[in-house]
Amino acid sequence: MSAAALPQTTERPTPNAPRLFGTDGIRKVVGREITPVFVAEVGSAIATYLQGSGDVLIARDFRTSSDAMARLLSGALLMDGINVRELGVMPTPCLQFNVRALGAAMGLTVTASHNPTEFNGIKFTGPEGTEIPRDSEEILERSIFRHEFVRASWDHVGTYRVDPDAVDRYTSSILRTTDVEAIRAAAPLVVLDPGNGTSAVTSPVLLRELGCRVLTLNANPDGYFPGRPSEPNEENLWALRKAVVELGAVVGIAHDGDADRASFVDEHGTYLPGDVTMALFAKHRLTERDGGVVVTSVTSSTLVEDVVRSGGGELQVTRSGSLPVARRVLDCDAIFAGEENGGYYWPEHQVARDGPMSSAKMVELLVRLGRPLSELVGELPRYHLSKTKVPVADALKTRLLAKVHAELEREADRIVTLDGQKAYFPDGWLLVRPSGTEPICRVYAEARSAPRAKELMDHGVEMVRREVETLGGTTHGTP
Ligand code: MG
Repeated sequence: MSAAALPQTTERPTPNAPRLFGTDGIRKVVGREITPVFVAEVGSAIATYLQGSGDVLIARDFRTSSDAMARLLSGALLMDGINVRELGVMPTPCLQFNVRALGAAMGLTVTASHNPTEFNGIKFTGPEGTEIPRDSEEILERSIFRHEFVRASWDHVGTYRVDPDAVDRYTSSILRTTDVEAIRAAAPLVVLDPGNGTSAVTSPVLLRELGCRVLTLNANPDGYFPGRPSEPNEENLWALRKAVVELGAVVGIAHDGDADRASFVDEHGTYLPGDVTMALFAKHRLTERDGGVVVTSVTSSTLVEDVVRSGGGELQVTRSGSLPVARRVLDCDAIFAGEENGGYYWPEHQVARDGPMSSAKMVELLVRLGRPLSELVGELPRYHLSKTKVPVADALKTRLLAKVHAELEREADRIVTLDGQKAYFPDGWLLVRPSGTEPICRVYAEARSAPRAKELMDHGVEMVRREVETLGGTTHGTP
């Protein structure tokens, strides 16, 4: 793809504002930052932001503090004039679906996604079923930092309801938008690993209703995450990789703690990187729909560009994060979107990362094509993508990026400055991207061969370290 074809964006955060929100909601350590007072103040800030009217839906995961936090949020919202609908335990995409379906003003998921057990947090969903924008987060942050809340009088306290139908409403939409007939006819054997997270309440039943024969691992919901760490990466999915081979399943499916993401393992127990799954989904979608717009973020592999171009589609590239991706899907009426971390979007169902929906679409793809997953992956172009992080103080990030830009400009064919500095070379690319939430700089490198990818990576890391030192900083901290 040429430089001109890569669209730029204006979606940038306001610099230097005090932050509570990370890339997706608030995530902190329970008993340290997450205290009863703090949670209640978040509830009051939301009520103030909504000007004391509208319905808010609250869902939660199984973390040890999630029930308590949901009750605190609920109490504060009710006292400050908001009607609350309690949905119970469910994946984040299930809550997001219900926000739009029920016309709620906001949805809250009490979850820390894939973070370690001591964390908890809140994800915020706006009326369109996507994450709330940065300017809304800033309004909430100001209200919390300044303790400025608008209180409701005794006769304007909100009403409380429990909604037992939220999971059914969500899974019905997945069943409606998936080829259930084809899956039931093939009755494929699949192994599901919810990782003791919230997909344990949706996905075993969903996959069975779709027509799969389902075996599960770690499907007992448990806030201590006894089965495996919550991040569904290659290392953590060792048991799933083994089980798929030993049981003769066609695919292994895993989710992170709140199931907005999905990871897959082929019939030989090989883990599929998120880019590879994304390319496979995009290729199949473009064939089915006879072209269309596919959205991805700047950190994705060239593999996705290749597949979209050869499939006659149009690729739109955004900053990384689910909000820029979801916004672009809505703006372009895209047919599919994906992120390299395993977040995939299916707009006919909803415009949000959706792990359970992605598992349904993977099974549909396998039965429709009637071929082993490893063979389908084997037909895709092969690239080597690696990622690492270097400790960099927040105060140095802007100046570091300017220096990296000056250096890369001298040696690269072209540079894309959508999110960090992405430099294209004849045989690969290098991306230097400071994190918006942690004192680190991420470095990505990709090439056709593994040695060249390593060479680019070493070059990028050396450049960041050297430039940080010339700025008087250090890169010796713990990333
Ligand atoms: Mg998640």
